[in-house]
Amino acid sequence: MNYVDRLGQNTYTNCIQGVKTVAVSGHIRPDGDCVGACLGLSAWLLDRYPELTVDVYLDPIPEEFLFLKHADKIRQENEDDVVYDLCIALDCSDPDRLNRASRIFEEAARTVCIDHHITNQGFGDRSVVCPESSSTCELLYYLFEDGRLFGSGEFSYDCAQALYLGIVHDTGVFKHNNTTLETMTAAGKLMGFGLNTEKIINDTFFRKTYLQNQLLGKALTESILMLDGRMIFSALYQKDFRLLGASEKDTDGIIDQLRVTEGIHVALFLYETREGDFKVSLRSDEAVDVSQIAAEFGGGGHVRAAGCTMTGNMHDIVTNIATRAEMQLIDYQQARDLYPEPTQDI
Ligand code: 5GP
Ligand code: MN
Repeated sequence: MNYVDRLGQNTYTNCIQGVKTVAVSGHIRPDGDCVGACLGLSAWLLDRYPELTVDVYLDPIPEEFLFLKHADKIRQENEDDVVYDLCIALDCSDPDRLNRASRIFEEAARTVCIDHHITNQGFGDRSVVCPESSSTCELLYYLFEDGRLFGSGEFSYDCAQALYLGIVHDTGVFKHNNTTLETMTAAGKLMGFGLNTEKIINDTFFRKTYLQNQLLGKALTESILMLDGRMIFSALYQKDFRLLGASEKDTDGIIDQLRVTEGIHVALFLYETREGDFKVSLRSDEAVDVSQIAAEFGGGGHVRAAGCTMTGNMHDIVTNIATRAEMQLIDYQQARDLYPEPTQDI
């Protein structure tokens, strides 16, 4: 489906009309798509409406994204209790995940939600949710090109850089199956604004600190194969972080390494945020829809990448998730037995 179809059914009007103050926010533990979308949108708005106040609210962002224009102006708290004319939630599948910005969103005179998570049921006065989009940044690219919702015009370098970064991160550098012709077209057009794409990709996606590599090593060494080698899981505890002097942000990329293990359909990675509380990450291939599993435990995400937070003992958490993954794997196997893929000699 192309974007004329994706966006066409909606009647868009410029949501900035009559607005003087805008708050932009995204999900808790902001990733590349979330940060890119927030800074890309604020650049787009300020380029067009210089008199507008645009404040971005996010939890502290990973250091590698700090080079993006205006990243240094991101706020964590609404210290003056400003009530905004408009609040825009980006890359956020439900309002609770705005975390500290939930209240800003609730109190704003008008609200807009722009997202690509399949588990997002829409919230706010106006929702544009497009699960076919690789990333919120890709969706924003086409909304900007369309011009109706946020005004029309050219992309600035800063806006293009932020959106490109977001697309790179949510597609795993154009690798995941959410990468479409539309994704590549948007990324190609953004490249055309003179971006140093190699630097963006290397510095923000592939580079790991020594500590991150140490944690990755520990997680891989201690990983366990389950369900006859079709599922892998690994966990890191607070004591592991303490031992290495590491923190949650050093866990980036561990799930991606687990998921490329041969024979694996489902990868599960957990880390302890507080004693007994775990952040759960799930990845899969075509055999399993992990967004369903995460949603069952109060989380959400995409078909092949989802997450949630869970409390309890590790054994129960892993068993609960593995049972659900196994049920889906049985269905997948039965469907394949019924409709085998054609072999070479047919
Ligand atoms: P990750 O495993 O990288 O944290 O998240 C994978 C995907 O699932 C992301 O798109 C993320 O937004 C979503 N996700 C992760 N944790 C949660 C959660 O607790 N709730 C919801 N609704 N989505 C989540
Ligand atoms: Mn995203």
